Amino acid sequence: MKVEYGKGELIQLNPRQAGAPNGRKTKVMLVFPPDWYPSEPYLSLPSLTCVLRAAGHDVVQKDVNLEMYDWYFSEDFLCRLVLKRVPQQLDRLRKLSRLRSLTEAEQGLQLALAGLTRGRMAELTEKAERAKRIVRTPEFYQADKLEWAINTFRQVTDTISLVYAPARICMPPMETDLSYKVFVSSEVLDAIEDTQVNVYRDVFEHILKPAIVTERPDVIGISIVLQQQIFSTMTFCKLIKEQFPNIHVTIGGNTVTRLRDVLPKTPNLFALFDSAVIYEGETAFLQLIEAVGAGRDLAGIPNLMYRDASGIHTSSLSCAEDMAALPAPDFDGLPLEKYFVPDRILPYLATRGCYWGRCEFCDHGEGYTAGYRTKKIDQIIEEIRGLKAKYRTRYFHFTDESYPPALFRKLTRRLVETNMDIVWTTHMRFEKSLSDEAVWQDARTSGCKFLHYGYESGSERVLKLMDKATTTEAIQRSLKLAADVGIWNHVMGFFGFPGETREDAYASMRFLEENKDLVHSIGFGTFDLSKHTPVAKNPEKFGVTPYINPEWDLALDYYFTVKDGLSVEEAERVFEEFERNHYPGWDLKIFIREYVFLYVARFGTNKLPALQFRPPEVGAGDLSGVGA
Ligand code: SF4
Repeated sequence: MKVEYGKGELIQLNPRQAGAPNGRKTKVMLVFPPDWYPSEPYLSLPSLTCVLRAAGHDVVQKDVNLEMYDWYFSEDFLCRLVLKRVPQQLDRLRKLSRLRSLTEAEQGLQLALAGLTRGRMAELTEKAERAKRIVRTPEFYQADKLEWAINTFRQVTDTISLVYAPARICMPPMETDLSYKVFVSSEVLDAIEDTQVNVYRDVFEHILKPAIVTERPDVIGISIVLQQQIFSTMTFCKLIKEQFPNIHVTIGGNTVTRLRDVLPKTPNLFALFDSAVIYEGETAFLQLIEAVGAGRDLAGIPNLMYRDASGIHTSSLSCAEDMAALPAPDFDGLPLEKYFVPDRILPYLATRGCYWGRCEFCDHGEGYTAGYRTKKIDQIIEEIRGLKAKYRTRYFHFTDESYPPALFRKLTRRLVETNMDIVWTTHMRFEKSLSDEAVWQDARTSGCKFLHYGYESGSERVLKLMDKATTTEAIQRSLKLAADVGIWNHVMGFFGFPGETREDAYASMRFLEENKDLVHSIGFGTFDLSKHTPVAKNPEKFGVTPYINPEWDLALDYYFTVKDGLSVEEAERVFEEFERNHYPGWDLKIFIREYVFLYVARFGTNKLPALQFRPPEVGAGDLSGVGA
């Protein structure tokens, strides 16, 4: 792990376990904003909740993202709100047509809107409700029905898009686009005010505002994981501060940490909220709400940026959590039965940071001020046991960025010894040290069903450039050992790492093709030059020239050119070629990873041709035209 200690004076604090100051409880509402696929709770809220409740505070957890999708696929949204917006949208297009001729897309939109009758929307509502029932009941395990439900969600969100156009609402995949740039603060501010495209304004009115009126929290904390969530978050911040000016609004999460250098320079954006928690949040958030509750100054709280009459301030203190002192996540209050799955999946995190921490393209370490840490195995086992009993579920997602091999070994053994009887999935690096059959037998017996691997490349040369410290031999052996015990191998990679040649990229494809029986699904893309990665911090070493557009003030990655290897555009073309020509067995009808995990768990096998568009016997991959 590359740890930078230049992030402030490092202090280690244990969150207080009990006793609100002055006997006053602070009431906190924690919000998870859209857009995220609602298959399981996101861990940030339960991780904070357990600490705040242990200290005696009152916490309301609000998964607005989940509630939003539940609402989208309901009569109230489709037959009331959508129909109400049809004449407004037609009127907008009429006005536009007086100024200029409508584009083909706009004319198509006009026609489609004319078809949104009450009868059509009633029909769509019935389908949407049926799709929700399918994903929440055992019908989910009939692949045809599940595929129908997923397609229905997409059809419904396409229809919703008609009344918010030019915005495009899309789920799944999670590609909602408000037609503004999320990496330009002035565009984010414009998007907030745009009642035509900004569906989150309606989400606020229908979901968040009534909850605030009922609960009257002192503090609202919003957790931003993906940069795209900035639109919904900033919309909520703005409307909360307008309508409930006495509530302290704070934002936190990975994206906020990555934007920490920019936020003080965008005062118009910072004016929408009161403070921002960066890095790990538990201790900072607890101290923040206690200070707000007691009316104290916020100076001296670690990991905090805040605004007062004199400006925006950044704490010079950083803190990292003591893992042993952190309680198990607390999901109480989240409507677990409403997630879009038939069997509830709970996320659980045993580690912070990455034990390897050296991959040159990765900025995971940026979320932390201290290096890799883990809970002790006894604590992990007890917490899993407790969560399983309390929330009556066997399904766990271990959300660690990369499960450390030593802990993987201990965990699988202890889960077997304790007869925990769970099923689980996690994220891994290909490790030479996990090449004995015994550990994979334990993985099987302990309930491991699905592994996400950071494969990145099948070219030894590129793996070295990335400092991935693995070999194709180790990758192949790991895949085989896991596949042989029935684990689903999901392999993630990308093209265009600086210095990667076309031959390297083809070697990467060929490796997967040659091992297609061991690789059950893939997730590929192209290299992004993220601003906090080692490559971006040391571009000369990689022959990279970044182009930083000063107007794109919230950009978290940059366009770049390379001295050697594939350019951005060439990498994109190689990726498209791979998409077109790869082994067809990797194209899944049911591509949501949590869904595949549940299927593997249910049917006890990684041979699930029902999930594939073209099962293997129908056609093998054809990469013959690719770099042969
Ligand atoms: S890519 Fe994965 S293994 Fe590599 S440093 Fe990042 S989190 Fe760790």
